[in-house]
Amino acid sequence: MIEVLLISDKGGTGKSSVLKALQEIYYKEAIFADCTFSINYNKHTVISEEFFVDGVEAIVNNENCLLCGDCEQICEFNALLYNPNGIIINAQKCTGCSHCVFICPTGAISLKKINAGKILLTRNNQDAIYIYGIIQHYSHNSKRPVLKIRNKAFQFAIELNKSIIFIETLPGWDRLTHSLLFYSRMLVPIVEPHQFVFDFLEKVKEYSLANRIEVKLIINKSDINYEITSQIIKNYNFWEIICIPWNENQNSKISNYFVNFI
Ligand code: SF4
Ligand code: SF4
Repeated sequence: MIEVLLISDKGGTGKSSVLKALQEIYYKEAIFADCTFSINYNKHTVISEEFFVDGVEAIVNNENCLLCGDCEQICEFNALLYNPNGIIINAQKCTGCSHCVFICPTGAISLKKINAGKILLTRNNQDAIYIYGIIQHYSHNSKRPVLKIRNKAFQFAIELNKSIIFIETLPGWDRLTHSLLFYSRMLVPIVEPHQFVFDFLEKVKEYSLANRIEVKLIINKSDINYEITSQIIKNYNFWEIICIPWNENQNSKISNYFVNFI
């Protein structure tokens, strides 16, 4: 089985379009994992879904509240509002630090796990299998369990006898992308020709050489800056490079570029 990671230096370079184009060709043999937590494929048929938790927040049982006000005093985040009928908790401000739980003399406050979102396994009208996540509760430091999506994709790829996993990542060369790099056997950077792209491509080059990972580079909207596109092709001529002009991208014709991609 091969895991292929679609990465980019910034948002809007066309990773989702490339994933869709790959799906049109490889829908029988692949699973498509979207780790961006930014798209809800709500036209797909849901096969299964699973909630994930992310941190805790305070809840209060006002029947046990003495209205002493100690919890409001100690909360550094102004998440507790005292009123004559009891304590109201602002979940958006609560960090789950638990100070109020410890100070409450009657045990009226407790912490509960937050259902932060869910991971869905779906099938679209082409019979392609997708795994993706959606965030339902945005806390001050929402986590995106990308590894959970990758692991589920791997599990279902085995169960469904698929030979490829395509994984779309969040933009950037950060810890979330790094947590997925370990498993991938092919990196597909999807970039546009702009002057800051070289920093990102150098990181990809360094990693791929150190770990002997194949790279296939996609320059999307390659015709918007011929000079930089030429420079990229020259600098990275040891990679397979696919240039997709702007018009082709707009017309959604790009699946033709990915025949025999794997
Ligand atoms: S858990 Fe911490 S942040 Fe949340 S209400 Fe209690 S004291 Fe405030
Ligand atoms: S500390 Fe406990 S008893 Fe006092 S106001 Fe807060 S919830 Fe009520």
